[in-house]
Amino acid sequence: MSEYAQVGNDASAKPFPGEEFPIPAGVFAETVTSVRHYTDRLFMFRMTRPRSFRFRSGEFVMIGLPNAKRPIYRAYSIASPSWDDEIEFFSIKVPDGPLTRDLQKITPGDTILMRPKPTGTLVNDALLAGKRLFLYSSGTGIAPFASLIRDPETYEKFETVILTHTCREVAELAYGFELVAAAREDPLVGEEAEARLIHYPTTTRETSDRMGRITDLVQSGELFRELGIPGLDAKSDRCMICGAMALLKDMKSLLEADSFTEGSNSSPADFVIERAFVG
Ligand SMILES: Cc1cc2nc3c(=O)[nH]c(=O)nc-3n(C[C@H](O)[C@H](O)[C@H](O)COP(=O)(O)OP(=O)(O)OC[C@H]3O[C@@H](n4cnc5c(N)ncnc54)[C@H](O)[C@@H]3O)c2cc1C
Repeated sequence: MSEYAQVGNDASAKPFPGEEFPIPAGVFAETVTSVRHYTDRLFMFRMTRPRSFRFRSGEFVMIGLPNAKRPIYRAYSIASPSWDDEIEFFSIKVPDGPLTRDLQKITPGDTILMRPKPTGTLVNDALLAGKRLFLYSSGTGIAPFASLIRDPETYEKFETVILTHTCREVAELAYGFELVAAAREDPLVGEEAEARLIHYPTTTRETSDRMGRITDLVQSGELFRELGIPGLDAKSDRCMICGAMALLKDMKSLLEADSFTEGSNSSPADFVIERAFVG
């Protein structure tokens, strides 16, 4: 594993195939350890973690590839929890995307560049204490929650964690299913996740056991009826939202109409939001 202070000195860090560019100053250069493709639009990968790199579960970082003199960096939510020895990402594949047209081709041994400063609002610190934590996600917006549902702090702060994940097609939900199964088997949070983590996947296009936009399922009360739990209550429920702009906008209006207040790192409150991508 290479360290920020010694980037470029690690013999195990392999340049991107066919390209030999120096590692830019001030970034970590890490080695891909595993890659798993789910669909032609989605994949996950894990890489080594710099020993000095600290982050809070739910934060994002800027990553790039050493395939140009001035590499392109994009924001990525860290999908692994803050205690993990490796770093995990869950990624889109945009056919002509400046970063992901190449990123989707990585294999173990390749090098990923990572800027050293993590940031973000989808962190436990930005929410007031509460009883239930609702994590509303669409598409790759599940990534920060993949981190949070594997962090013991989440179960210390909340009695119940409800993870909703909405995608167009059934195959796009696979990462979420694997994640929840892994959390329930995890030596650190397995017992809590088994007893107190609820997974609520839905599709909007392909027929599945549960269909619909999550905002419709919340608004109609269907989510609460199906799970046999009380409806939203701003006094004791806290929410995080990550996904496409439409989800953020609609869920924010819905929560604000229900007396929820938006929080931030400097001013913790009832809910926080973050875009899963720009565009
Ligand atoms: C705070 C933040 C966190 C992010 N976390 C992640 C993450 O964990 N995983 C991830 O894959 N992406 C994430 N993104 C998006 C990411 O930064 C890039 O946009 C994405 O990797 C595509 O990069 P690109 O250069 O190939 O294409 P870009 O030029 O960045 O994007 C091209 C177009 O592709 C579409 N697009 C981009 N990203 C997505 C996406 N994730 N889902 C659906 N459509 C998309 C948009 O229409 C966009 O205009 C995040 C963005 C932000 C702002």
